[in-house]
Amino acid sequence: MEPNIAKIEDLVRKLLVELGEDPDREGLLRTPKRVAESLVFLTSGYWLDEKAILNKAFFSQKMDSMIVVKDIELYSLCEHHMLPFYGRCHVGYICKEKVPGCSKVARVVDMFSRRLQIQERLTEQISYAVQKEFNADGVGVMIEAHHLCMMMRGVQKQNSMLVTSSVLGLFRDNAATRHEFLSHISK
Ligand code: ZN
Repeated sequence: MEPNIAKIEDLVRKLLVELGEDPDREGLLRTPKRVAESLVFLTSGYWLDEKAILNKAFFSQKMDSMIVVKDIELYSLCEHHMLPFYGRCHVGYICKEKVPGCSKVARVVDMFSRRLQIQERLTEQISYAVQKEFNADGVGVMIEAHHLCMMMRGVQKQNSMLVTSSVLGLFRDNAATRHEFLSHISK
């Protein structure tokens, strides 16, 4: 069920008051509506249908080689602070029967990023979705991201980056396949 924008606007207005702001001053007049719309967009991954996104646009072709889509921009919200984390996601896969168009991979990344997340779970959700929906024989996913909750508050570290990875199937079982993936994404 999609969220009710008017209700969120009302909650944002209450939040502004509680923070000591005057929601009726000129600069804030349209802020509750803007915040509500932006939050709804940033969490729109909850009501996208995985199957509908992924099921079309396969190319039937017998092949055995690795496809790597690297440097996919990623923006998500950490579930602990609802602050952004952002960075890059690299996805490698081997599909022996049908080859998904690589824009599908970016859609999977967006679908799971546009939710309240922790990076570790996001990484796994992407790899399992690619494995299942693409019927992949092997999948590797790596995410490198900066977390604003660590940069603006908390430990206030500006340059640290959290790196997470998830490998399935051939990528887990075969060291040479894993190394091939890593060499692609480290270039
Ligand atoms: Zn956080």
